[in-house]
Amino acid sequence: MRIAECGWSNEEQAVFRSTRNPHSTIRNLFRRTLQKGLWKLGFHRALPDRPSTLMVEPTNVCNLHCPACPTGAGILNRPPRAMSFDEFRNILDQALDPPGYLRRVTLFNYGEPFLCKDLLRMVRCAADRGLETFTSTNGQFFGGEKIADEVVASGLTELLVCLDGADQETISRYRKDANFDEILSGIRRILAARALRRSSGQAAPIVELQFIVMKHNESQVERMRRIEADLGVDRFIVKTVGISPAMPGFERLAEELLPANLADSRYERRADGSFALKGEPGCGCEYVFSTLVVNSNGDVVPCCYDIHSEHVMGNLFRQSLAEIWLGEKFRDFRRRVGERRDAVPICRHCPEGRVAIRKEEKVSP
Ligand code: SF4
Repeated sequence: MRIAECGWSNEEQAVFRSTRNPHSTIRNLFRRTLQKGLWKLGFHRALPDRPSTLMVEPTNVCNLHCPACPTGAGILNRPPRAMSFDEFRNILDQALDPPGYLRRVTLFNYGEPFLCKDLLRMVRCAADRGLETFTSTNGQFFGGEKIADEVVASGLTELLVCLDGADQETISRYRKDANFDEILSGIRRILAARALRRSSGQAAPIVELQFIVMKHNESQVERMRRIEADLGVDRFIVKTVGISPAMPGFERLAEELLPANLADSRYERRADGSFALKGEPGCGCEYVFSTLVVNSNGDVVPCCYDIHSEHVMGNLFRQSLAEIWLGEKFRDFRRRVGERRDAVPICRHCPEGRVAIRKEEKVSP
């Protein structure tokens, strides 16, 4: 089944596919020059005193071996490490001082969050401070009623489970060592634990199933929808596969993983046969004005697309959050991205604000 058959409106499909930039080269040049001038004159997004979203990587270790992920492929240039609860709490306290800025804490980046023993304490700590909490998992850690209930009781707002296939053989093609039956039974346990607590008024966490469209699974969207309906999850998310050009063997990975129907991809094929991200990089990035990304070693990077930590803005185990968030290094990075995004290598190939990469298909009543 193709995205075109998913039942979305033409407009939704157009956003999802968001293919070619309608502007000519001259118009793009004009737009960039104007943007640069406006930035220099001070007409740009004001920097808030603190981020509204804190993205923390609980650990950079994973139990699976996905080939397009630097952790799964074994090329992440950081030693394996889990953040401690005290380290997390210290960061959180700083992000909440002064209060009124931070709204949301996301707990994942390059690693499986549930391999961090303090994950649910971190969630509880953030939830107790009135913050939204969100984590993403490969779904193999809910092997009993006890852990399922602990997840539900933690105060977690949103739980995303990745399942890129309707059977064991298909998910194993990308998520090496994943167990299809364990993932499904784990989701059922979470939903059952939530149902038990519903009588006391608890509706969280929202449970989402995410399906990444790739060559080996692109025909399974309809089967996945049936699985999602049978499980009774709250949301079904169809996402295009992301392959960083910073990954060794980008072209080989793209040949192997991109769906045959490139309409269901964030990449297009150039005349020379190579792959490139759809759309134009444009100027500016909302992300670096709203979100602070902290790796498990305390390093602050501009966003999750900095897979090799090329732009470390500071380290939260040695510096204060205010010093890094408001510091000259981060300000200079925002200015460079604001003036001309394609001059910053990690931003040149980034889909943020450029091409839609996910589509939320259903929300249960
Ligand atoms: S890589 Fe993308 S999200 Fe990250 S700073 Fe650049 S434009 Fe923003």
